[in-house]
Amino acid sequence: MLSKSSSKTNSARTDGNLQSEGVRVSGIGVSAGIVIGEALHVGHDGSNVEEIVLAPEEVDDEVARFQEALKASEEQLEEVRARAAEVLGEKDARIFDAHLMLVADQVLIEEVIETIRNERRNAEFVFNQVIERYGQALKQVDDTYIRDRLADIRDVADRVIRNLKGEKAVDLTRLDAPKIVIARDLSPSDTASMDRENVIGFVTALGSRTSHTAIMARSMNIPAVVGIMDALDQIRNGDELILDGLKGVVIIRPDDETRQSYKERIKSQIEWLKKIETEATLPTETTDGFRVQLAANIELPEEVESIRSSYGVGIGLFRTEYLFINQTELPNEEQQLAAYRKVVEDIYPESTIIRTLDIGGDKFISNLRVPSDLNPFLGMRAIRFCLSRPDIFMIQLRAILRASTHGKVRILFPMISTIEEVQQALDYLQQARAELDAEGIHYNRHMDVGIMIEVPAAALLADQLAPYVDFFSLGTNDLIQYALAADRANPDIAYLYQPSHPSIIRLIKDVVHAAYAHGKWVSICGEMAGEPLLVPLVLGLGIHELSMGAVSIGLIKRLIRRMAMHEAEHLVEKALDCGTAAEVRKLCEDFVQRVAPDLFPG
Ligand code: PEP
Ligand code: MG
Repeated sequence: MLSKSSSKTNSARTDGNLQSEGVRVSGIGVSAGIVIGEALHVGHDGSNVEEIVLAPEEVDDEVARFQEALKASEEQLEEVRARAAEVLGEKDARIFDAHLMLVADQVLIEEVIETIRNERRNAEFVFNQVIERYGQALKQVDDTYIRDRLADIRDVADRVIRNLKGEKAVDLTRLDAPKIVIARDLSPSDTASMDRENVIGFVTALGSRTSHTAIMARSMNIPAVVGIMDALDQIRNGDELILDGLKGVVIIRPDDETRQSYKERIKSQIEWLKKIETEATLPTETTDGFRVQLAANIELPEEVESIRSSYGVGIGLFRTEYLFINQTELPNEEQQLAAYRKVVEDIYPESTIIRTLDIGGDKFISNLRVPSDLNPFLGMRAIRFCLSRPDIFMIQLRAILRASTHGKVRILFPMISTIEEVQQALDYLQQARAELDAEGIHYNRHMDVGIMIEVPAAALLADQLAPYVDFFSLGTNDLIQYALAADRANPDIAYLYQPSHPSIIRLIKDVVHAAYAHGKWVSICGEMAGEPLLVPLVLGLGIHELSMGAVSIGLIKRLIRRMAMHEAEHLVEKALDCGTAAEVRKLCEDFVQRVAPDLFPG
């Protein structure tokens, strides 16, 4: 089922009240499904530290409270360090020495105590302010290593503040009961390591449909609402919540009637999903006989099993950055080979497109020193990072080449904006081949090589880029953000992030035209491919290979089996005459409503 109007609000709304159905807040629904469960707040949100004015006689106690929190933090860190030494070894445990030094930093401690005394404010507030000031100062330093210490400082500061507030750190990898996780934001590493059985939903203040938290939620099939902004403060730990990940609604402390009506909806949702499953293995073919190739995007090798058994499709995008997250050391060639090989073998005879590392933007890896850019999405990201770190890139290229003998593998370079980048990437690939040849190691000499078209410059230059590669994969998540200059992870400007914007349709049209003119194939792996309203446009534009989060496959197949290609082409003709995203969206809504009315909830 899809929402008829998924137009995003640019700020979350709160309506309803406690007397009727509870408090209803809206954000951006990014992973469909309804769940009812208990809220669990994780992570400390620096913006949520209360300022309290102290009476003069309270000051000494406040200083003592601060010192106790420091001591508790130190003890906890000692414990974490000891555990890390046991599990990871002494070398990796040393990173906690830096954390321990911070809680014992006398200059910092004195400054906080003095401010508590002089300004008579509570310890959390003063400590947070001092830390923020340190952070600002460090940001100016022209030294990557020092700037990278910012994350450590924030980490330690969060621990001290949690101790001051009497809160415990939540270990998301192990929960003892089902919970809906509430956070200001969740890092890719938080989401990747979550206890999948007990995390039944997420709600975050930040994020958007194509932020990585959202993509992970979909790939883990966990209902999620992001971008609820300040409304997050209304949710208390332990509150009962209803989360509707399709409509982007969270109801806090619902009354009996509301709870009951949502329970009914959950039941009909399950029945509807069953109905979709009955078509899961039928061919993906339009009513006028066009075959469409569907594939799945994956973040983790473990996802492959259920994709093969439920849908029997290939992997159109394997985002390898998740192998690099949550590791104390970068994965070596053998570890990468094992991960790629597992996917490639498990999905065989279908193929796997392995994308080289795409870190940066909103995907950070704590143990890799990526320069902290002022504007991360425009900075050292993806292929730019790999070309600047051939040591890391070559290991991945060798591992992918070696995996190519275990099934059908294609390689994909992300974030290409110039021909020089493609040439350099191909040179490294050639170098990796030569090394393997010299070592007598086998690989597939005919592995297809593709580039992602996700930067407008590449889209406009597609005819020049085509001769260098075998295929293009359209990364619309980034293409949209770069074309419209609208950060894909920022809920404030989510209204401007418009997949149906006529400029996007024109860009895609030119890319498809350039690919076919050079006899190359083109697929799409951005979230647009799994968005039912936009799929008729995508097909009408001539793209017949769509890769999406696995949860969308059943729905998209159902839609494609009900539409005709010639009608989709006609839709594109009309869309190309439109001036606004809203007009295009309306055309698409009418189209889908007509051919597959059951995709809309009543
Ligand atoms: C995209 O940009 O559309 C894409 C598929 O890549 P990612 O979301 O990983 O940036
Ligand atoms: Mg991208």
